[in-house]
Amino acid sequence: MYLKSIEVQGFKSFANKIVFDFHNGITGIVGPNGSGKSNVADAVRWVLGEQRVKQLRGGSMQDVIFSGTENRKPLSYAYVAITLDNSDHQLAVDYEEVTVARKLYRSGESEYLINGHSCRLKDVNELFYDTGIGKEGYSIIGQGQIDRILSGKPEERRELFDEAAGIVKFKRRKNMSLKKLEDERQNLVRVNDILSELE
Ligand code: ATP
Repeated sequence: MYLKSIEVQGFKSFANKIVFDFHNGITGIVGPNGSGKSNVADAVRWVLGEQRVKQLRGGSMQDVIFSGTENRKPLSYAYVAITLDNSDHQLAVDYEEVTVARKLYRSGESEYLINGHSCRLKDVNELFYDTGIGKEGYSIIGQGQIDRILSGKPEERRELFDEAAGIVKFKRRKNMSLKKLEDERQNLVRVNDILSELE
């Protein structure tokens, strides 16, 4: 699996629609300071479901929408789509190519799409569990992140190893089952209370 392309429109400094095509190898993005290199990485982070505005170097989520320049009016929405080659089926879907997209309007309305079909953020997260690609994955290493990993809490470092070992989805499923069990336990307590009131 590899990243084939990134399409951005109205995202941060990219007002016009622009498509970056990548090949299965190393690509470098070069440019002067402030030209938008980090915005490309932010776009990938964002489309993968990043909800933490700090990680996107903004004050609010709407800050990702092109805010205008001297010669150009602000835009009303931001759109990013990434296309991954999935011919090795590392992503557990039948498609040879997977496109994940996210759109956000100034009104706050937003949408996620997988191969053109509207979906939930949860679906995007689940698609990438244990691949290292998700927003918590290690495929995007931002400036200063290595330091943070090395000096972080052991539990945080453990999360990274869990992702690499491919056990995150099992842990999540286990936690969901434990929560369901706890809910059922509470329901039983309530039923017993009602029963003893009736007796
Ligand atoms: P450096 O080499 O200094 O790290 P860079 O090439 O990585 O810089 P970025 O940080 O990606 O640059 O881009 C910063 C530019 O993006 C700034 O000029 C900023 O004004 C512009 N920018 C960020 N958000 C928006 C937005 N919502 N609308 C318009 N422009 C934006």
